[in-house]
Amino acid sequence: MTGLSTQLIHHPYRPPDGFAAVAPGVHKASTVLFPNVHALRTQEWKDKSGYTYGLHGTPTTFTLEERMATIEGGLFCTLVPSGLSAVALVDMAYLRQGDELLIPDNAYGPNKAFANVELAAWGISRRYYDPQNPADLAAKMGPATRLVWLEAAGSITLEYPDLRALVAVVQHANAARGDSARLVLTALDNTWGAGIAFNPFEMGVDVSMQALTKYPSGGADVLMGSVVTRDEALHQQVLMTHMRLGLGVSGNDVELVLRGLNTMTLRYQAQDMATRELASWMLHQAGVAQVLHPALPGSPGHANWLRDARAAACLFSVVFESGISQRQIDAFCDRLQLFRLGWSWAGPISLCAPYDVPSMRTTPWLHAGGLVRFAVGLEAVDDLRADLAQALPALLA
Ligand SMILES: *Cc1c(COP(=O)(O)O)cnc(C)c1O
Repeated sequence: MTGLSTQLIHHPYRPPDGFAAVAPGVHKASTVLFPNVHALRTQEWKDKSGYTYGLHGTPTTFTLEERMATIEGGLFCTLVPSGLSAVALVDMAYLRQGDELLIPDNAYGPNKAFANVELAAWGISRRYYDPQNPADLAAKMGPATRLVWLEAAGSITLEYPDLRALVAVVQHANAARGDSARLVLTALDNTWGAGIAFNPFEMGVDVSMQALTKYPSGGADVLMGSVVTRDEALHQQVLMTHMRLGLGVSGNDVELVLRGLNTMTLRYQAQDMATRELASWMLHQAGVAQVLHPALPGSPGHANWLRDARAAACLFSVVFESGISQRQIDAFCDRLQLFRLGWSWAGPISLCAPYDVPSMRTTPWLHAGGLVRFAVGLEAVDDLRADLAQALPALLA
């Protein structure tokens, strides 16, 4: 079994209930009953050998955790109520007062906001690095650096970094620190790759988190996140912080994500093909200065994507010519009918949103024109192209 779809549908993990349905059962609990006091005192849950309390896991949450670890090529997984809470959990599990955090300048915005506000208030400092320049990461690593976030491709602007080179910078710094120092960890926001575009642990990262809200769910109806590791000690740190924070997920939400996993690789593939088609088509339209999509030659980091990835997600961004005003860009977005205005992506419906990139980053942004990010859904690609075509005249009006 080498195909990911096959592995996910014929997954060996079964909750110990002996009921041979295709779909795993949906188990729900706050309370789990023990047969006697001895069991109440000694029952273990951290290794998934048993159940002790709803927040510590159910057969349903353990099933999704096992499958998420499989998808990403990891061994251990912890579920949380959203992708953003997965980011915050990683930060809280590994960072202490006095530590420093490094974040790519094009990272998912709320990752930066949590570092700027809560982590700063807790005495944890952060710096931003240029993810397209490993030398910049090397220059910004200091004695207090404890965690380096990575994201491929970057949020909104979709630059594809040289993940291997960025990880090598951290490994080099760790080798110089020696045994007694606390080592620097790497954490990847793998929502874009979803475990399909590349294997995060082959890139050498320590921790991979995902917003299951996006591809694994696929329905635009569930919020959930996951944190996967290959290292048991790193997993136990996340799991204990998770337990102390009480970050439970609902059995019904887990059921929806488990259902979504059956079709995830097919959806990813279909949306990838449609996105490449639309991104290439947009490149040739009047008023368009650049299209950002890692598979397009000329998009930042294209060579890294070509070397390291076997697929691309359903996102592309269009940078308009500098003569086109924000009012014209907004009118174009308003005129679109199938591409609806809204956040998030990887659901059935196509979405778009204008962004003010210079206000989102600390490093220079070379383009003078405005940007719109598109998330391609599961509609027929000809209909989506026709929708873009009928709205484009608003750009020049
Ligand atoms: C959506 C998203 C998240 C956060 O997921 P939520 O479930 O909406 O909190 C994190 N990272 C990336 C790259 C995302 O696109």
